[in-house]
Amino acid sequence: MVLLAAFLALSAGALAPPPQQEQVLHMSRRPSGARLVVRIPDAAPAIALPPIAGPRDPARPLVVIDAGHGGHDPGAHNERMRINEKDLTLAIAQAVRDELLKTGRIRVALTRSDDRFLVLQERYGIARKLGADLFISIHADAAEDETAQGATVYTLSDVASDREAARLAARENRADILNGVDLSDKSSAVSSILIDLTQRETMAASTRFADLLYREALPHFPFRSPYHRFASLVVLKAPDTPSVLLETGYISNDRDAGWMATRDGRMQLAKGVAAAVSVHFARASIGR
Ligand code: ZN
Repeated sequence: MVLLAAFLALSAGALAPPPQQEQVLHMSRRPSGARLVVRIPDAAPAIALPPIAGPRDPARPLVVIDAGHGGHDPGAHNERMRINEKDLTLAIAQAVRDELLKTGRIRVALTRSDDRFLVLQERYGIARKLGADLFISIHADAAEDETAQGATVYTLSDVASDREAARLAARENRADILNGVDLSDKSSAVSSILIDLTQRETMAASTRFADLLYREALPHFPFRSPYHRFASLVVLKAPDTPSVLLETGYISNDRDAGWMATRDGRMQLAKGVAAAVSVHFARASIGR
């Protein structure tokens, strides 16, 4: 009886979901016009948007901080010190958020605040959906040369600035392939002139921020030379959000890794990034 009632209700459309989510199969053999409504899942699951911390005023600038790696992707690893990149990046991202919130003027969201995996498109997708004004992806570098140390800031370019930058892009872009979906060529589908122009402007803004980051953060932590490199990093491909990837230091270098893993190290990193972000938005408000 219950089943029959449900079927009749369904026939009348009483249980039908909103039109955009339904697929209606007309049953031509039923003269009564009965129809079967089948719910079909969205092609791509919606990204769960993280909460925004800080002032409630939506006119305040919003920074999205992305803790690199997570979940089944540990990132680089320091065997001797038992430190995973995914844990370092999360702790540093949280320290940067806390430091930015202290200004009382900047809104902040994290792409992840626990140990979870996100494909690279989801990371900048979150920034775009939230309408972020700036996107900063936090990573820790690794090299065969254990003496390599210091921070590097990367911005997007189709042409890598050197072989090391190309290798870094290959390593960081691997996250999506690890997850079984290589989406890294998606950008070619959206190469309209408009997006191209927007992207060019965004890349220039990203480069200005990279320079600022070096200048403001240098009193707090050391950089390598050159401090700014270019690479084709998927996580930086939002066409309309200025984006940088900060390699905060070398996890493969025991001194860097040990320093990044301490509270004081994270504080210094956070202070340097926050100083640059503050100046960046102060400049933007003057230019308005
Ligand atoms: Zn990384």
